[in-house]
Order: sequence, then C-alpha cells, then structure tokens
Amino acid sequence: MPSPLTKALNRILPRGRVSEIQPDLDAYRRDLWPLLLFQERSGRPLEYPAAVVWPDSVEQIQAILQVARTHNAPIIPYGAGSGVTGGTVPNSQSLIVDTKRLNRILKIDAEHLQLEAQVGILGEILERRLAHQNLTLGHSPSSINCSTLGGWLATRSAGQLSTRYGKIEDNILSLRAILADGSIFDTTQIQEFLPGLDAPSLLVGSEGTAGILVDAHLRLFPTPATRSFRGISYPNISSGLESIRQIMATGIRPAAVRLYDPIDTLFVGSGKTDSSKDNSSHSFLKEMLSGSGGLGRWVFRRFLQNHTLVNRLSPFLPSGALLILSFEGEPEQVNAEMEDCLDIARRCGGKDLGDGPGRAWWEKRHAVSYKQSPVIDRGAFVDTMEVAATWDKLERLHRHVRRAISKEAIVLAHFSHAYASGCAIYFTFIFPACGFETTRKRYLRIWDRGLRAALQVGGTISHHHGVGMLKKKYALQERTGELNLLSRLTEAFDPDRRMNPARRLDPTSRNDSSSWL
Ligand SMILES: Cc1cc2nc3c(=O)[nH]c(=O)nc-3n(C[C@H](O)[C@H](O)[C@H](O)COP(=O)(O)OP(=O)(O)OC[C@H]3O[C@@H](n4cnc5c(N)ncnc54)[C@H](O)[C@@H]3O)c2cc1C
Repeated sequence: MPSPLTKALNRILPRGRVSEIQPDLDAYRRDLWPLLLFQERSGRPLEYPAAVVWPDSVEQIQAILQVARTHNAPIIPYGAGSGVTGGTVPNSQSLIVDTKRLNRILKIDAEHLQLEAQVGILGEILERRLAHQNLTLGHSPSSINCSTLGGWLATRSAGQLSTRYGKIEDNILSLRAILADGSIFDTTQIQEFLPGLDAPSLLVGSEGTAGILVDAHLRLFPTPATRSFRGISYPNISSGLESIRQIMATGIRPAAVRLYDPIDTLFVGSGKTDSSKDNSSHSFLKEMLSGSGGLGRWVFRRFLQNHTLVNRLSPFLPSGALLILSFEGEPEQVNAEMEDCLDIARRCGGKDLGDGPGRAWWEKRHAVSYKQSPVIDRGAFVDTMEVAATWDKLERLHRHVRRAISKEAIVLAHFSHAYASGCAIYFTFIFPACGFETTRKRYLRIWDRGLRAALQVGGTISHHHGVGMLKKKYALQERTGELNLLSRLTEAFDPDRRMNPARRLDPTSRNDSSSWL
C-alpha cells in the first residue's frame, strides 16, 4: 500500500516520478562515503528513505516541498550521490529529491563566455556539449562522470585543473534555489538591492541545507589550443613545495599542479614506458593493490600490518617527490610559462623528467580514484582526507596530520589545488580491515586524529569534498566564532529545519552525526 506521503506526491507529479519500491530505496540509502560502503558490504543495514522523487521543473519542486511540509518529511536534495562524506544520508522519513531530470542547458553564450544551465546535468555530459562549441567550464573533478553541477555547487567542488580555472565557486555569476517554503531565492535579485553582497556564497557549500539549487549562470573558457605536461623530480617534499610557492608567486597559473610524496610517487609511477626500475616498482604496487596474484595479496597484507615501519621509511624512498605540472592555452604562452616554471624548479633542486609522468596522469586522471572496492576486496580499508592551509602553515599541516594518522594506517599524500596564498593536501590512508566494529572505530579514530591535528595548526578541515555527516563535528569546531551567525542564517533559509537536517551545521540539531561518530 502506498504511504500517505507517496499518495500525495503521486497526485502532483507525472506517472513514474515517485517511487517507494525497494530497489529505488536501496539505491538512495547512501552516497559514496566509504564508511557506509563498508557498512553495507559488512551486511549491516542502512536506513531507507521514505520515498524518492524525480522532478523536472521548478513548479514540480515547489509542489513537492508543499507536500513535504504537510507530511512533515525532511528533504534531501540529491545530485548523483558521488559525495564522499555522507551528505545525502536519509532516515525513514526522508524524501529524496533527485535533481537529475533538471538537466537542460538553457543558454550558451559563446561570444561572452557564459553558460546558463539547470543543475541536475552530469558533468561529463555538460563538458561534451560545451566542447562542441569549443568551450569548457574548466571544472574537471575525477568524479566528472558521476557528479552533477548542483552537487559541485553544493559542496564547493574543485576540479583537477583548479589552479588555472578556479574552484566551482570562483566562476559563478548567479544561482537560483527553491527554499523549503517554496519561495525562489534568485541571487541576481538580491544583488540588485545589495550590490556589495556576494549572494551566491550564501548558497554554495550549503550541502542541501539552504534549499534546492535549480539553475546556475556560470563563466566559461575557450577550449585551450594546446596542452603540455612536465614531470619534475625532487629529493624531498620541501623543495617541491618551495617550487610551487615560487611559481604561484610569479602569477603563472599552470592548469594542474600535483606534488606527490615519495610513497605516493611510487604508486603514481614515472610514466616511463620502458622497463626501468622505477616503472617495475610501480607495476608491482599496482599488482599488489588490484592484481589477482597470490604474491601481491601476501605482500599487501604484510605491507599493511607494518604500517609504522612503512610510514617511517617512506620519506627516504629513492623515488623522491614527483611534481606534475600541466599547462593549457595558446602555444606561445604555454611554452613561455613552462620554461619559467622549469627555471624555478631547477633552482629549487628539481630534475626535469620530460612529459611522460604528466601524460600518464592525464590519461588515467578519472580512473585513479576508483580503486576503493578492489582494496576492500583485499581485506583493507581506504579513504582520503583533503585539508588545506596557507603557505606559512602548509608543511606543518602535512607533518602534523601525517604523524596523527601514521599511528593507525599507511599514509600517502599529494599536494594539489595550489593558490598564491596556499595549497590543499590530499592524504590517502589504508589499513587492514578486521570486523565491522573494530574497523569502524579505527576509521573514525583516524579521522578524529587527522582533523584535530589540522585544526591545531590552523588548517581547514575540508577543501573540496564538503562536510557531510563525517566532518560536521569538526566544521562546528573550525567555525566556533561564526556559529551564531551561521545558525541564524540557516534559520532564515529553513526555519522548520526540513532541508537535509542531518547535515545542518547547528549545535542544537538533534538529528546530528553523533550516532555515527
Ligand atoms: C571517485 C570519486 C572522485 C571524486 N573526485 C572529486 C574531485 O576531483 N573533486 C571534488 O570536488 N570532489 C570529488 N569527489 C566528490 C564528489 O564527486 C563531489 O562532492 C561532487 O561535487 C558531488 O556531486 P553529486 O552530484 O554527486 O552530489 P551528491 O553526492 O548527490 O550530493 C552532495 C551534497 O550536495 C547536496 N546537493 C546535491 N545537489 C543539490 C542541489 N541541486 N541543491 C542543493 N543541494 C544539493 C546534497 O544534499 C549533498 O549534501 C569525488 C568522489 C568520488 C566518488
């Protein structure tokens, strides 16, 4: 029998746009937060939402919100569910509003480099359509195949080419969202009254707690005429970081800047195609992580069990630290920028490895993140932690977070998303999984140690994955000074606490993440 909520939704939506059947509810029980993936794979039940809807217009969303109000149902705006922090986790009363049918491109203005689009469009499809007109949004997260424009905006996403094109929030001209009471929040109208206010920033990063984003007006870029790569090897991380800092200070903006620590350098490989020593160690590591051979599995287990030793030795690995730079634009500009960067790199002790490492990374740039399931299959647990800081604190941030996590897991790190003022660090941690409760506790201990270390040295706990349920406790600590203001703002957008309440940054919120953490 359909529930009263579903019956009411069926009355206002076309056939097939409401579901409470089991396979649909199954699919919306979690995003890609690894803890929930592990929980599911361990046979531990996750909560189902009450129903899922797929609206395709503003009017339908307004009607859905009216029904949700009448039935007192919490709303979870949903893009593609690729979030990795538990941003769309439902409870049994939640109504999931999947935005993927709001996928129209409303206008492409090639002359003035502007885009108007509905936010449910998948990143990959958007980029393909723009490419037909020699345009790009310049936003290329590794999840581009499985994430939406709305998800990017709601989490302040960063693409791999963010050093040149900025994060998603850097290219917004205006946004529209439907608030919980059904009203339309249009940032262009707000800016007419308050021209000094950056109105879109009230919505970006709100992770479904302010309203449902419906369309966006964004800046575009011409497709670059050429693209070049460079790999540079450094004896250690410090000299690589000094190169990046100096490059950013000159005003040059490579498209991608990625500095891998020695152990991550081994995983990335040199990009050489010959049978050099460097390449064979890379192949061995690949086999260890995903190959079917028994030796690989055995070494992997030993490797994980000896995490303290591996972490201690890894800074001294002969691989050194690998910096990958990519450049995009007009050929003359690309060549000039590359030469200037290579000069800086040499002065900082770097050795030019040619374009192999960069090309190899580019070819696999969307595949590299999808290694989680094979690692879990091998009896391990893996996740990533992205933090950031200004240049003066960056090395301390790296040292402290690494030390904090090293007690529990093997830690790899790379620095990416560089700015004139600082840079992000992307830690990957791997540890042996043994039993759901033990693994869960160890996993949460790692996050707790890592994020507390980040806060202690003045770093930020999230650069581009958002907060979700996972980091809510730490976001509240980072924002202590602004909590009152944040609470009042959230209250103004959603006084009935209906929008993604579990994610709401509100210390008084009952339905918070404490049951998870
Ligand atoms: C393999 C992999 C690689 C990744 N690589 C990157 C990367 O390179 N860069 C990066 O930034 N992130 C990356 N991510 C994380 C993830 O892809 C991003 O957070 C992405 O922005 C989420 O988009 P989504 O459409 O899947 O949103 P969802 O996961 O569906 O939702 C994320 C949050 O946004 C809210 N939301 C979604 N749509 C709307 C809307 N229309 N209105 C209001 N709120 C909304 C949800 O309520 C939720 O809180 C990666 C994830 C994976 C699994």
